[in-house]
Amino acid sequence: MLPEIKLSVLKLQHQSPIFSDDDILYMYNVLEESNISDQDIRKKHVEMLKTKASIKATNESQIKVATCMTCGRAVSGKVEVFCLLNKERFKGSIYCYEHQKPHI
Ligand SMILES: [Zn+2]
Repeated sequence: MLPEIKLSVLKLQHQSPIFSDDDILYMYNVLEESNISDQDIRKKHVEMLKTKASIKATNESQIKVATCMTCGRAVSGKVEVFCLLNKERFKGSIYCYEHQKPHI
């Protein structure tokens, strides 16, 4: 960290306390600010990982649940929703684009 490097360099040059109260207060503020931003970054990082994990879980469940009744191929969430919204046409089953045709 830069204030620490600066501190050790100045100590070597002067060999005696050279910081005023204002300098110490300034460095304290810098350190405190960097801690706050670190916590903020960590929090954001955790939130990002949680979001990624939930997206992954959603995708995995869609792949497991949404498969074509005829060929068993995985279909996208859009296809699944389309089939479920047309219950009369597909009788609550899910079909891939190809196997939706005979039901029209
Ligand atoms: Zn199919």
